[in-house]
Amino acid sequence: MSTPRADRLSADDHSILWRCPCCAAGLDALDDGWRCVADATHRFPRVAGAPVLLNPARSVFRAEDFTPQARTTFKNPAAWALWLGRVLPSPSRDLGTERSLRALADVLRARPEGSRRVLVIGCGDGTAGYGKLEAVDGIEMLETDVSLAGPAAVVCDASDLPFADGQWDLVIAVAVLEHVLEPQRCVDEMHRVLRADGLVYATTPFMQQVHMAEYDFTRFTRSGHRWLFRHFDELDSGIATGPASVLIWSVEYFLMAWTTSVGARRVVKGLTRLLLGWLTWLDVPLARRAAACDAAGGFYFMGRKAAKVTVSARDMVRYYRGGDAQK
Ligand SMILES: [Zn+2]
Repeated sequence: MSTPRADRLSADDHSILWRCPCCAAGLDALDDGWRCVADATHRFPRVAGAPVLLNPARSVFRAEDFTPQARTTFKNPAAWALWLGRVLPSPSRDLGTERSLRALADVLRARPEGSRRVLVIGCGDGTAGYGKLEAVDGIEMLETDVSLAGPAAVVCDASDLPFADGQWDLVIAVAVLEHVLEPQRCVDEMHRVLRADGLVYATTPFMQQVHMAEYDFTRFTRSGHRWLFRHFDELDSGIATGPASVLIWSVEYFLMAWTTSVGARRVVKGLTRLLLGWLTWLDVPLARRAAACDAAGGFYFMGRKAAKVTVSARDMVRYYRGGDAQK
């Protein structure tokens, strides 16, 4: 578990080209925060060692939401909850990320030094782990989020990334796009900050109940997810979370629909994981079946930045993969 560091990002780190999230002008890093070079009213504080670079005109967050102890999207669980989480079977099995990160690590290794810059959007509590990438020589990773509970070095909103154009080689957004109000704008921002041949890796839920409470806004089918990334060439895509996870969550959320009691909901979560967690093994063979796409919990997409749209509206009809595909 990562703990907040006193200084997450040094003000004299010149390796990143900043951009004002409000007006796209440059930013000056000061000791106590960041300041827009074009508009003196665009000032951004440093909280717990991290710059908080938000556009209040578009973000659901405000700089004052961020103090080291405050909860925004998530908080660090208590020690007993962490222990329980390790002991009980998980209700979901990630089917895409580990293999995809291995493939991305190989691609970055083959690139020249200085071309292995990775931006993580929504790093969460840091337990997701990007070890496969961190093992790449010369890798430069910047973790960002809209919470200071984890290891984020920068607080920023994906709808206004505070980075100048074309400076990252890979952008990762795992379980992020359901939590933003304008997913297309966020994907366009990822496209903007990537270098010409930059890569993107995203996983986004399709059939998943509301999670992260007030910060959950949207879902995507496999086809809808592809269309979101239409300015990218597809390198790989598939089921990230399978139908068995959906089944477990459905039982859990059916039972939790009866109560708002924190204690009762915890019992339901624990019992469903204990009794049904084994079902996630069924997702391993199911992930290879086309029909499972109609019932998946979510999809991953790995792509390379393209200069223009890579799929037409008509292509999207042929893109469907599922149980009812025309033979
Ligand atoms: Zn500005």
